[in-house]
Amino acid sequence: MNAAPAAPAVRGVILYGPPASGKDTVTRALADLDTAFSLFSRVKVGPGRSAGYRMGTPERLEELRSSDGAVVYENSRYGSTYVTDRPGLDAAVAAGVPVMHLGQVDGVRAVLDGYPGRWLTVLLWCPREVAEARSAGRGDVDTPARLTAWDATRADLDANPDFRFDLTIQTDEVAPEAAAAQIRQTLSSELVLVDFDDTLIDRLAAVTAWVTRYCAGHGLGPEIEQRMLDAMRIRADLDVIEGLCAELGLPESAGELWSRYEPELAAAVTPFPGVIEALAAVREAGHQVVVVTNGGTQIQRAKLKASGIAEVVDAVCISGAIGVRKPERGIFEAAAASVGRDLAQGGWMIGDNADLDVTGGRTAGLRTIWISHGRNWPDGAEPDFVAWTAIEAFAHVVRGTQ
Ligand SMILES: [Mg+2]
Repeated sequence: MNAAPAAPAVRGVILYGPPASGKDTVTRALADLDTAFSLFSRVKVGPGRSAGYRMGTPERLEELRSSDGAVVYENSRYGSTYVTDRPGLDAAVAAGVPVMHLGQVDGVRAVLDGYPGRWLTVLLWCPREVAEARSAGRGDVDTPARLTAWDATRADLDANPDFRFDLTIQTDEVAPEAAAAQIRQTLSSELVLVDFDDTLIDRLAAVTAWVTRYCAGHGLGPEIEQRMLDAMRIRADLDVIEGLCAELGLPESAGELWSRYEPELAAAVTPFPGVIEALAAVREAGHQVVVVTNGGTQIQRAKLKASGIAEVVDAVCISGAIGVRKPERGIFEAAAASVGRDLAQGGWMIGDNADLDVTGGRTAGLRTIWISHGRNWPDGAEPDFVAWTAIEAFAHVVRGTQ
């Protein structure tokens, strides 16, 4: 079963940099590399150069200002007003991948906050003397004004020390074609959040084997074995173990049982066949993978390490460590932040639990893939894709971005 594809995600590039840092050159290189890229032309109201702008009238400016949310960012310089407008952005995003040139960090922030999507922020930089030589070399008549603007850009960066660009490219060291390739590659990199238990590792098999062995070792009958398994199927922590000890009168204290269970289970879990290789392939395709799992910090860490999963992902986010569990939005936010991303940039959530993984991921604004293991989808809003295994899910993600 495949749900209808989601509406096209907002993707774009914001090039920030001083005059002569290569914004036009890199934009041309991007368009040469991939015709989806094109310069986003702002609305300009005022005298002077018109190339690269949508020229507007004072009336049009007032119209935009009085329409709620139509002005995403506006600034004035040298007697002209420049507007990054929502109608213009809507059209540019529908047509492809807009490449925006901005000279103020406030402007970059305004776009990120006011027009959410996967915006790649790129700082193009070159030393002042290189900017001066380039400006003179191409016959600019206003080189001193451009150097003043260079200084203003430097001051703007210094005034915003907390702002982090996704990419910084030294255009005096990196050729435009290479810069364009790097931008395109980074932009197509997706955030891939993935559940751990019974998605990447066969936890249920390990728990079942442990309970069977435990009961056999202590002469406990099939009814007790079934009760333990039912209780520990989805979640087994000290609380669950304490409850079982009280209910079933098990031969060990809850503390003893838990201290034995934790390392024994960690040693017994294994990834589903092919999962390690599939994770490696997702990351080789340029995506960032973060495991998002509910559970105690110690036991989940031990299982992540013993299964080899910890080594093949970019980060892990464990509910016990941050105090927020799936399906709450906070855990998805923390997982995205762990690799320097924001949920507004979109991404995937992959997991076997319809409520925790699919509904939780969807509510957090992510596209979702449900790992069915052959089950039928239970009920409720459907995931974007259903895969039998995590391997199929990863293949879907990689296919979608090639
Ligand atoms: Mg799971």
